[in-house]
Amino acid sequence: MKQFPVHNGELVVGGIPLKQLVARVGCTPFYAYDRALLSRRVEELRAALPTRLKLHYAMKANPMPALVAHMAARVDGMDVASGGELKIALDVGVAPKDISFAGPGKTETELQQAVASGVLVIVESFREVSLLAAISKMLGLPARVAVRINPDFELKSAGMKMGGGPKPFGVDAARVPDLLKSIGEAGLAFEGFHIFVGSQNLRAGAIAEALRKSYTLVTELAAYAPGPIKLINLGGGFGIPYFPGEQSLDLTPIGTVMTTLVEEASKAFPQAELVIELGRYLVGESGLYVSRVLDRKVSNGELFLVIDGGMHHHLAASGNFGQVLRKNFPVAIGSRMHAIKAEAVTIVGPLCTPLDILAERMVLPRGEPGDLVVIFQSGAYGATASPQAFLGHPPVVEVLV
Ligand SMILES: *Cc1c(COP(=O)(O)O)cnc(C)c1O
Repeated sequence: MKQFPVHNGELVVGGIPLKQLVARVGCTPFYAYDRALLSRRVEELRAALPTRLKLHYAMKANPMPALVAHMAARVDGMDVASGGELKIALDVGVAPKDISFAGPGKTETELQQAVASGVLVIVESFREVSLLAAISKMLGLPARVAVRINPDFELKSAGMKMGGGPKPFGVDAARVPDLLKSIGEAGLAFEGFHIFVGSQNLRAGAIAEALRKSYTLVTELAAYAPGPIKLINLGGGFGIPYFPGEQSLDLTPIGTVMTTLVEEASKAFPQAELVIELGRYLVGESGLYVSRVLDRKVSNGELFLVIDGGMHHHLAASGNFGQVLRKNFPVAIGSRMHAIKAEAVTIVGPLCTPLDILAERMVLPRGEPGDLVVIFQSGAYGATASPQAFLGHPPVVEVLV
C-alpha cells in the first residue's frame, strides 16, 4: 500500500524497516500503527473541510490508549461508546467538555459515570431521560445531553446502516419532539442533536447527501428544542478502500456541502458547533497486522501458508466482521516487496477452524517459513473487534511507531 514506503525491498513502518521493527517488538504477531500517517490523515482532512467544522474521533475504531492520546492532541473531541472507552478518554487527559458518550444500551452505572465526569450524553431512549433525571438529582449536576435522531432516511451504499427504518440506535425522528419535551421537563442541560446513519461508505456523493439531509432534519426538529442548540453532530461514515477495485473517498463534494452547512448553521444556530465524528477513516489506513509464516504446505494441488496470526486477532481480514462475501484484504510479504509475484497462495491462521483464512488464492511472491506476512488497512476494528480468547492463543501486541 502506497502509504508505507519500501526500502531495499522491505516495508518501512514509522521510519523503521519491518525486520527491525519485529526485533523491537520482540514477537509476532502484532499490530503497528504509524504516528506520522495518523497525523497526516487529520491534516489532509482538515485541509479539505471548512475550518469551523469540528472533528471528533470515534474511539471504538481503535481504543489503544497511546493511539487515543496521539489522536486527542489532533482532533477537537472524542466519542466514546462504553464506560471502558470513557475511562480511556479521561485517563489520556481529554477534557470532559470534549467527550460525548453514545450507544443504544448504556447501563445505569455508565450514565452515572458520564454525568459525574461531566461529559455529553447522547440520549438514545426515553428510559435514558428518566435515569438521567434521577442521576442528576442525586449528584446535584444536571446531565449534559444531546438527542440521537434515528432519521427517516438511510445512507445510500453504506457498508453498515445505522440509521433509517427500524433501528436500535437513537429515537425515531417522529418521536423526537416528545423526547425533547421530557428532557425539558426533567431539567437536563440540553445541548443539541446527533445523527449517525452508517459506516464504511466510499461514495462521496451519498455521504454529502446524507449530511445535507441530516442537517435539514435537525433544523426541523430544532423548533421543539428546550434550549439553544450548541451542537449539531452530523456523523460521518467515511470509508476506506479495502478490496480490489475500491477507490479512496473523494473529499471534494463533502467539503463543498460542509462549507454550505457551516455557513447556514452560523446564521440559524449562532451558538452551535457543527461536528463530524470519524473512526475508521482517521485510523484504518495507518495500521498493519504483522505475522510470521510457520509452515508452507500443499493440499490437493492448493498451496497454503500457515501464519502465526489469525482471525482471533483480525476478524475483519478473515471476512467474518460484517462481510457477506469473503474478499481479500491487501496483503504482502513485507520483506519481499519487490519480488516477482510468483504463486497463488491461501494464507491461513493457526486456529482449528476453516474460518481462519486471511487471504484466499492471492498472487504473491514465494513465501517461506520465517517470512513476514503483512495485512494492510488494519488500523481500525482490529484487536478489539476480534475474538481474542478463541482457542486460547495469547492476546495480540499493539505498538504505535
Ligand atoms: C461506530 C460509530 C462511529 C465510527 O464509525 P466509523 O465507520 O469507524 O467512522 C461513529 N459514530 C457512532 C455513533 C458510531 O457508532
